[in-house]
Parts: sequence; C-alpha cells; structure tokens
Amino acid sequence: MKLNILGCYSATPRTFTNPTSQVLELRNHLFLIDCGEGTQVQLRKNRVKFSRIKHIFISHLHGDHYFGLVGLISTFRLLKREADLHIYGPKGLKDVITLQMKLSDSWTNYNLYFHELTSKDSELIFEDDKVEVHTIPLQHRVYTNGFLFKEKEGERKLDMAAVLNADIDVAYYRKLKQGFDVENKKGIVIKNESVTLPPSPPKSYAFCSDTAYDEAKIPIIKDVDVLYHESTFLEKNENLCEPTKHSSAKQAATIAKKANVGTLILGHYSTRYDDINLFKEEAQTIFKNVELADDGKVFEF
Ligand SMILES: [Zn+2]
Ligand SMILES: [Zn+2]
Repeated sequence: MKLNILGCYSATPRTFTNPTSQVLELRNHLFLIDCGEGTQVQLRKNRVKFSRIKHIFISHLHGDHYFGLVGLISTFRLLKREADLHIYGPKGLKDVITLQMKLSDSWTNYNLYFHELTSKDSELIFEDDKVEVHTIPLQHRVYTNGFLFKEKEGERKLDMAAVLNADIDVAYYRKLKQGFDVENKKGIVIKNESVTLPPSPPKSYAFCSDTAYDEAKIPIIKDVDVLYHESTFLEKNENLCEPTKHSSAKQAATIAKKANVGTLILGHYSTRYDDINLFKEEAQTIFKNVELADDGKVFEF
C-alpha cells in the first residue's frame, strides 16, 4: 500500500502548497482521492501515470477538493484516453462537470461513469476480487464522505522449498494458493498447510477530510492501519472548528486513539500557520504514531 500526497493544504493554491489530492496504490489499483486545482500538474511532478487512474473519489463539492477535476477529464481526452473512468462523488458533481463539457462542446471519447452519492450511511461503492471501498459519512458544511479502502484477504503463499520437496506438479500451484490440499506426482495427498504460508494481513486506509470532530465514524474506521484525518487548526484556534466544521490536530488525534488506528496522517492545514510541525507536536500529546502529510510526500505501509 503506497500513498502519494499531491496536495494537503486547505483553501487556495499557493506557490508551494496545493489543495487536497492524493493517490493511493492498492493491489495494482491507482485510486485518485479528491482533485483540487492543480492536481494534473502534481500528478506530472510526482510521475504518476495518467492511464493507470481508473477510479476517482471526490469527498465533497468545496472547490479545494474538486476544481481540478474538469481539467483532468479534459486532459485525458486530449491524451486520447480509451479506458473507462469512474468517478464517485456527491450528487450534483455530474451536472457541474457535464455542463462545462457541453458548453465547450468537448465530450470525452472514453466512457465516463458518474456514481453519485446521497446516502447518509456508510455504503460499499466499489468492489472487485482484491479490494473494497466504503464511504465514511463526515460532518461538514456540505454533504461529505470520506473513503475507506480495504484489501481483501489474499491468497496463501507457496513455501517453495516445501513444495519442491513434496514433489508437487506446477499445475497444482494455483490450487495450493487457494488453500486446497493436492496430490503429488506419486498420488500422495499433501496437506495445504504443510507447503504454504498464510497470506499477509489485509491492509486498510481511511481518508477523512473535511470534517468536524465526530465520533460517529469511529465504528467504520476502527482498527484501520492508516487514517488520514484533517487537522485544519491548532487547538489555540479551536473556536474556529465548530463554525467551519473542521478539526484541530488534537481532535484528529482523539479520533485516531478512540478508533485504535495504526498510524495517523495529518493534513488539510490552514495556511495561517508557518510551521506544520506544530500539528504533529499537538497531536502527539494524545496519540503517538503521527505523521505529517506534505505535498509530494510518499508513504509506504
Ligand atoms: Zn477543504
Ligand atoms: Zn470543505
């Protein structure tokens, strides 16, 4: 699981900071999460292959989370993309994007599918044989979802030395990975556990931005390996959290602690602060395992 932060600052794009966007690489998928202004430039700077993006998840319709989307869709068209593109986001997103395409008479030559979200409860919105994506309803000034990405239990791994020693035909390797007992070349039944190893534990990532402090999401994100939680403010400006429906670093850490997550990544910093290390220091008074997102930073878990 690899997370590439393209942008993680709130409000307007600046010379050296970008609004929210990130790429999550999970079991060969490249999921784009939010698409603030400048995302396609950040994708280029971070050498992310455009053609590998097949699914885009938009948390909400504040500009710092999706103003880059129509530009990216348009660039895909100019690059003569052929692969389908699936976009998951709040109801209304399809209207906003298609109006712009209609007025400029620039429809895509690839299939564009909008999956509009309206539910106030967590729902499964994407699934294949390797991963699942669920929404995480968040409390913000407009309808907002975070997203929970979960690997499914993988296949068992071959213990090659044991497999060769047991004299099993290559044709049975697939069955072994699926957990079956097989016969060896002499017709003797070989117990699966004697020649395979358990799969690596499935990984999970929760993206929660933007949101006020809200414990309702804790059951959904419980025990995730990595939680990205917004921390727009420091505690000294906590009076701004409630009216703007944002969180402080301390509140993000409290959610991380109560949800028993592995690692907390902070982001969506207000640009009023000169030093983002202050967010980490504040969060660590509550929860130890804290990382700071920053534009261009890559996390591997
Ligand atoms: Zn925002
Ligand atoms: Zn917002």
